[in-house]
Amino acid sequence: MLCSDKLRIVLAASEAVPFSKTGGLADVSTALAKALDAMGHDVTLIVPDYRVLRLARQEYLPVVSDTGLRFGISIGGKYVTAGVNWTALPNTGVKVLLICQTDYFDRPQLYMEAGEGYLDNCERYCFFSRAVLTICQQMVLRPDIVHCNDWQTGLIPALLHSVYAGRPGFENAASVMTLHNMAYQGRFWHLDMPLTGLDWKYFNLNHMEMYGDVNLLKTGIAFSDQITTVSPTYANEICTREGGEGLDGLLGYRRGDLTGILNGIDDDIWDPNSDPLIPAHYSVTNIDAGKPACKARLQERLGLPSRNDIPVFGMVSRMSDQKGFDLLASCASRLLAHDIQMVFLGTGEPRYESYLKHLAAHHPAKVAIYVGFDESLAHQIEAGSDAFLMPSRFEPCGLNQMYSLRYGTLPIVRKVGGLADSVVDTNAVTLATNTATGFVFDSYDSNALAETVERAIDLYSEPDQWRRVMTNGMSIDWSWQNSAKNYIDVYRKALERRFDRTSDGRE
Ligand code: ADP
Repeated sequence: MLCSDKLRIVLAASEAVPFSKTGGLADVSTALAKALDAMGHDVTLIVPDYRVLRLARQEYLPVVSDTGLRFGISIGGKYVTAGVNWTALPNTGVKVLLICQTDYFDRPQLYMEAGEGYLDNCERYCFFSRAVLTICQQMVLRPDIVHCNDWQTGLIPALLHSVYAGRPGFENAASVMTLHNMAYQGRFWHLDMPLTGLDWKYFNLNHMEMYGDVNLLKTGIAFSDQITTVSPTYANEICTREGGEGLDGLLGYRRGDLTGILNGIDDDIWDPNSDPLIPAHYSVTNIDAGKPACKARLQERLGLPSRNDIPVFGMVSRMSDQKGFDLLASCASRLLAHDIQMVFLGTGEPRYESYLKHLAAHHPAKVAIYVGFDESLAHQIEAGSDAFLMPSRFEPCGLNQMYSLRYGTLPIVRKVGGLADSVVDTNAVTLATNTATGFVFDSYDSNALAETVERAIDLYSEPDQWRRVMTNGMSIDWSWQNSAKNYIDVYRKALERRFDRTSDGRE
């Protein structure tokens, strides 16, 4: 038995644009909410209210108001109270509820400062997860689907399965857990178990425990009715020993409930024909109307010589081991022997930040770096570069390669995760069939990266061919409609599955 065609969907996430963002999760939460709303479903997005960060950029945000609701949760030996603010995503029916708890969420950053995670992260996000269901109950949201994202919301499926099972308002509720990045699991020492509000009986190998710790991502995987991840290739990779980050056994066990759905991109935010953050506009039918101007302005903004005759390679990224900075460092001098420019935007591990600053200081006419989080510069690098570097060690989906394709900026990617699913290598066959969209290399090796960048440099000297590849990439439809349809299929499976879950022997 299924509920009616129109689903009541609660999306819970630790970040969502335009309110907060450290990475792709923020883009995905909002874009998926909008796409589901456009399909006629009732969507409520619940996020923490990082109020200090939000107020600092309130001129870019919809007006946020107090719902008047107050609630409290016993956690960590305290009774912690919170409020709920709300707003709507502009031009949609999506309601956004922001959980306002100043001690937990009014901080300078979301998860960490100076490379160190906040010591009470387990408490903060156990509180958030428990608050999501408290709010569902108190606001009578009666969800059909509670869609959870990453470890910060991994507790929710377990709560639905246990504490909330059969409670009024949750009779129809099924849970879906989306894995955006297996490298971040929310692992905390076992004495944090009481923060979850769950019985110690769940602290075992099949549910929440991993090598003596509480693992909140594992909890979400173990208890959710369906699991998704953000590309079909990553769905396969995480079931292997190399890609599973220690959870491949559990994921293998649940392989039948795991679906890989490639993210889309939000055209309202990422479209070179209307993007307010770039200096000139263009489209696939009129690239010259704006792309050269964007390149010139990017070079000017970053203090590089204004040259249209050489390729600019861009990179916008969290500076972490995942993203392939060690490969770049190993071949940087080989690459910089060519007549090219490279521009970097990112924050993260201090060693990568200082290495790139050092590179820029030694090659001021060729390399520019901005350390920080800057949305306008991210858009300007997408628009103003000729090619975009993503030599990732692993990449669940990756959004920047799709933004690059849309902006006529040829992605150079490693054949892994969502990069393998979204970029087609340029060679004689793919050029002839007009399917080439970028450059792809296989092994995690600096020679392979350098050779691939050199292939791009060679193609750049053939403007007609380069233009063909740009056009192929810009013509692809990455809209969220298709992905959202796939999520609806998963939601329906979750609703069917929830009837079995008490008798599946997992308890
Ligand atoms: P991940 O989620 O692993 O960080 P994705 O490619 O999926 O990587 O998404 C990253 C998102 O974060 C993109 O929208 C990208 O433009 C943005 N981003 C990353 N670093 C920065 C930065 N320093 N400034 C602005 N935007 C950034």
